[in-house]
Amino acid sequence: MNLAELSPGALAAACGVFGLCVGSFLNVAIYRFPKEELTVWRPTRSFCPGCRRQLEWSENIPVLSWLVQGGRCRGCKGRISVRYPLVELLTGFAWAALGWITPSEDWPMLLVRLLVTTALIVATFVDFDCYEIPDEISIGGMLVAPLVSLAVPELHRDTYLAHWVAEGGEPGRGAALVASLGGIAVGAGVLLAIGWLGEKLMGKEAMGLGDVKLLGAAGGFIGPGGALVALVIASMVGAVVGIANIGRFYCLLRSRVGARSAATSRARSLEIAKACGQMLPFGPYLALGTLAVLLYWNLLVFWF
Ligand SMILES: [Zn+2]
Repeated sequence: MNLAELSPGALAAACGVFGLCVGSFLNVAIYRFPKEELTVWRPTRSFCPGCRRQLEWSENIPVLSWLVQGGRCRGCKGRISVRYPLVELLTGFAWAALGWITPSEDWPMLLVRLLVTTALIVATFVDFDCYEIPDEISIGGMLVAPLVSLAVPELHRDTYLAHWVAEGGEPGRGAALVASLGGIAVGAGVLLAIGWLGEKLMGKEAMGLGDVKLLGAAGGFIGPGGALVALVIASMVGAVVGIANIGRFYCLLRSRVGARSAATSRARSLEIAKACGQMLPFGPYLALGTLAVLLYWNLLVFWF
């Protein structure tokens, strides 16, 4: 069977099923990456974080195991977070969608898109959990991106820098490599510059190094212009979510004040809400911006 001859529906279904299983592995990666004593590969079998019991194969079936067991461990009956099946569903859905929108004869691009999307899902959830992005993803991405660009130069067929190097022709491996390295430099460079400026102006650390490395890695796949657009999208979405989050904390505080009839001023409530609501990781929004650019660059260029 030839991959290039699969219909979009068959390709999407195959990708979706495979994605569900990959999602199951991502849960392990998300849980283990931030923990010093664990690696993704060791121990090889997954275990229940509650009772440390090794899981049977029948407890590792994506989504289904969680549903059958009613969201509880078979041994200790401890709750298993609904996030486990959700990450599996999200990964399965993302893989199916990528299989659907990428023409099957473009399978090298499909592989790159699957790789980048999968890495971004891990970065997003680890960042949500502990406000850091694993170096395996960010530094790993910066190392892998130039190699992938060499292998799949089509990745940079819409990158200005690649076209400029190729002098208007179809970008080859050399041009794609230059675009990738330029993307890493611009992606990491712009966030370093913003962080430096923020520190000078506000006197506190304004940008996490994890975000710098993540946008560097992203730039390696989407080029310098792509990295800048991804940052703009991330900032816009991040600002909206940030304001909504501050609003949520403010409403929560005011309802408490109402209940206790305490005399906390509105200004003081807003101050506390700002302090709490601003504690948002930036990685998930960078991931979202990167994905938007990776998939819909031409549409975005039109808008911007
Ligand atoms: Zn257990």
